[in-house]
Amino acid sequence: MAYAEIIITSSIESKEAIMNRLTELGALGFVDGDDTLTAYFNQELSPLELSDELARFRYVLESSDLDASFSFSHHLLPDRDWNESWKKNFTPIDVGERLVIVPSWLRPETGRVPIIIDPGMVFGTGHHETTRTCLSILERIAKNKPPGSFLDIGTGTGILAIGAARLGFVRIIAVDIDPLAVDAARRNIRENALEHVEACEGDISAVSGRFDVIAANLLSEILIEIAPDLASRLNPGGATVISGMLSGQEDGVIESMRSAGFSLQEKVMDGKWISLVLSRTGST
Ligand code: SAH
Repeated sequence: MAYAEIIITSSIESKEAIMNRLTELGALGFVDGDDTLTAYFNQELSPLELSDELARFRYVLESSDLDASFSFSHHLLPDRDWNESWKKNFTPIDVGERLVIVPSWLRPETGRVPIIIDPGMVFGTGHHETTRTCLSILERIAKNKPPGSFLDIGTGTGILAIGAARLGFVRIIAVDIDPLAVDAARRNIRENALEHVEACEGDISAVSGRFDVIAANLLSEILIEIAPDLASRLNPGGATVISGMLSGQEDGVIESMRSAGFSLQEKVMDGKWISLVLSRTGST
């Protein structure tokens, strides 16, 4: 079977919307580069149909006041290339001082602590700035204070939860609203031979108890929505690491976090992406 590779060049603000539309159209997977987005389809959707759909989608972008000026090119790949294309983009990546993210089909060759990931079709390969920044911050937190319990909201491949386990956190829960992500996370947890990491389907409301550290790498609107829940799941003295905001979006998120009882400890910028570390100001 052959596959189609669609390479899209768009503004960052429209990229996510385009990705969502391509998912609805049946994209099998994505490689999110700095300037381009590559999507893979099987042949069921013809090139003509696809360009038609994308042309129509410009109106949707326009009506949402998003930049509608994207371009795309289309290539057909024989089966083998699909695997090669997909896999060659997932090379090992060093993160922080001690960690390395390793695709499950490669064997780690460094002295670093491996986080083994098979991304399947799910977000969280470690190639995204936000994932790497979260892991580096978690490493720093674990270095400064003996790691306790950890909650990962929107775990994707399970990468932050697995990273937290490698850093020494002792009780770890990971949730995601996407059942495919939960499956991928469970597979990756098994692959890393971790028994104290639990992955469940649901959002933060599905989680009970409190945690010493919480990570949530989500869109800013969702972070704003769950700010009170994040506060109620955090142990006094604990830290919340949030990411997924584009530069310029963080002020609204900080405001809602402050209203929920958080104070801002740190703001980290990586390219256009912002990550924040927050602590609880109240005692409960
Ligand atoms: N934590 C990973 C993946 C982040 S992608 C990383 O840092 O790389 C965001 C994930 O959050 C997706 O898998 C998506 O399905 C999930 N998600 C989106 N909204 C959510 C919500 N309200 N509650 C829980 N998970 C959510």
